[in-house]
Amino acid sequence: MTITVRAAAKFNLHLGVGPVRDDGFHPLATVYHAIGLYDDVTVTEAAQWQVTLTAEDHIATAEVPTGDDNIVVRAGKALAAHHGVERAATIAIHKGIPVAGGLAGGSADAAATLVALDRLWSLETSDENLLRLAGQLGSDVPFALIGATAIGGGRGEIVEPVTDNGAWWWVAVGNEQGLSTPAVYRSFDELAGTEVGDPHVPERLLMALEKGDAELLAEALANDLQAPALALRPDLAQTFADGAEAGALAVQLSGSGPTVLMLCRDAAHAREVAGAMQAKAYDRVWTAPGPVAGAHVVTY
Ligand code: ATP
Repeated sequence: MTITVRAAAKFNLHLGVGPVRDDGFHPLATVYHAIGLYDDVTVTEAAQWQVTLTAEDHIATAEVPTGDDNIVVRAGKALAAHHGVERAATIAIHKGIPVAGGLAGGSADAAATLVALDRLWSLETSDENLLRLAGQLGSDVPFALIGATAIGGGRGEIVEPVTDNGAWWWVAVGNEQGLSTPAVYRSFDELAGTEVGDPHVPERLLMALEKGDAELLAEALANDLQAPALALRPDLAQTFADGAEAGALAVQLSGSGPTVLMLCRDAAHAREVAGAMQAKAYDRVWTAPGPVAGAHVVTY
């Protein structure tokens, strides 16, 4: 039997970062938002773990390991260990989410693998246990399970859905060169020093989501990793300027970057902004709606 699960990219509508903790993680107060760029993960019963990789155009996969250090194998082994079963699988990843783009593609794959193997092996893991396993795999993995729009606390792994009445449209502009998440956090520590307070999610963002009002949302977006990422990659400032000129309502870095997200009024406006970016010779431009669902079975 073969099962395919689809999981979406995430964008942080708000990413508030606090001072580094003793365990090396930064406390986060974030609002996650699942957008319509997807990876598909297909699992098949096998005697040994094996990963295969394919991708949509303009998605570079050179950095993605196909051995046991791929997060999907870690996810599969964690699920098997949780149930005390000795099983393995072939996992075929088809990437539509840019790699190392600040869109949590690896986390999406891990979440998709948990859902797919749970079904393949008929384990019926409870939601609570799936979320706990997901949190152990990575900060963004629990959100990839639930999707839509949600507040993330702790180091991002404690997720709580929020009301989002918007039908948002985004243009995502990728970059040829990835940006390392740990490097961006180090840049954050250097820039922010000891001045950082406890992060919180602003009320006006939650209001904008509840009202479904794009102009309000445009004013409420924020990302504490944007300045540290731009300090490492000053070239990205041009993409911000081009997005504003293309008529986006707001332009913000996705997570730790380098993908830049542009808020649009509706689907037609997103196509217009995407066309304007392509006309400026950007070749990694996607339009995506949000919010979309978390990891879900598409074929079996
Ligand atoms: P983060 O989740 O750290 O913000 P990101 O969203 O910027 O990361 P990912 O696409 O998740 O980027 O990839 C980060 C790194 O994780 C890759 O460079 C790669 O080395 C490693 N990796 C391991 N497994 C995967 C996977 N299945 N897909 C993508 N990257 C993977």
